[in-house]
Amino acid sequence: MAFEALIRMVSSSSSSPSSSIFTHQYGYNSTLLMNMTPNSLHAPFYHITDPWKINIASSKTFNLLAPIIVYWVVCSMWHHLDVMKYPYFEKRRIHESPEVISRNKVTFSQVIKAVALQHTIQIFLGWMWFEDQDVILKREVYVDHLQKMSNLVPWVADATLLLLGRRTGEKVLLKHGESLVAWIYWWGIPTFQMYFAFCLVDTWQYFWHRAMHTNRFLYRHFHSHHHRLYVAYAFGALYNHPVEGFILDSLGSAVAEKVALMTLRQATLLFVISSIKTADDHCGYRLWWDPCQLLFANNADYHDIHHQAYGIKSNFSQPFFTNWDKLLGTQMSREQADSKTRWKKLAHDEHYSEHDKHNIISQGHAKKID
Ligand SMILES: [Zn+2]
Ligand SMILES: [Zn+2]
Repeated sequence: MAFEALIRMVSSSSSSPSSSIFTHQYGYNSTLLMNMTPNSLHAPFYHITDPWKINIASSKTFNLLAPIIVYWVVCSMWHHLDVMKYPYFEKRRIHESPEVISRNKVTFSQVIKAVALQHTIQIFLGWMWFEDQDVILKREVYVDHLQKMSNLVPWVADATLLLLGRRTGEKVLLKHGESLVAWIYWWGIPTFQMYFAFCLVDTWQYFWHRAMHTNRFLYRHFHSHHHRLYVAYAFGALYNHPVEGFILDSLGSAVAEKVALMTLRQATLLFVISSIKTADDHCGYRLWWDPCQLLFANNADYHDIHHQAYGIKSNFSQPFFTNWDKLLGTQMSREQADSKTRWKKLAHDEHYSEHDKHNIISQGHAKKID
């Protein structure tokens, strides 16, 4: 029944797009819909009206520079921790500090130069990709928000009645309909768009990243550059061959913001979040309170496994979720990773006798010799 109602709802709007917005399938009285139609903007904090601020926020310059500046600031903070070696953070390193020099096949200055080059290319491409500011302002900023909200009203009414039933639904809509419509317009839809864009970025990156590992040509010429870092650090997040940087990062983000129908300002936020997240994934620390590590299973520890020789064919998902790895069987947990290195670690551990080393591997138990 619900499905049929949904079909009728969609077909009624698509068959007569010019008809009144009050002709949705339930045919409830127009008083309810009028009641739900916002009379004021209910504008949230991010809705700016100052023309000077609008001009900045909707400029291509701001859109292109914001994620780059954020990346350099955030990476500098992580680098500061690397250099200062504060005991609290040293204890939470995924690898020992000297390994950065001994195991990595690229120097810090080479990393910095590569990142600067990628950002320069990004600015150049982005400048060509985005439309001129007056087009953006006309389409995204100086629009009739009240009209757009009123277009949502019948959809919100239909969905609410479908979910709650007619009696409860009407009661709720009469009381909270207007604020519900405003909330969906200012928060619900933009949040969904952001989540959808995360999924799109992930999908794009998973399949390209996996292809970079399965195709010898792609790996040798492009992706192997990133894997010169066995012990990752934040600045190394964008240490890529420029071709990989263009395909995975620039093009992936551009496709996601277009498909998710984002405004320029939403796209800026997406790029900023992506920059922070990718730097965090390479930071080299396990910090439970770090929002990027607390909210996402795909985090610094998860991606570190992919940077190791034993995990290089696993954990391709990046930068937000682990779904594609789970679905396609390419996931390696920390426990699995540790079991692969157990022999190696034991060989260098003087606290165990040879006999106990054997026991640990075969039975999973042995006592340390004091
Ligand atoms: Zn890789
Ligand atoms: Zn990486």
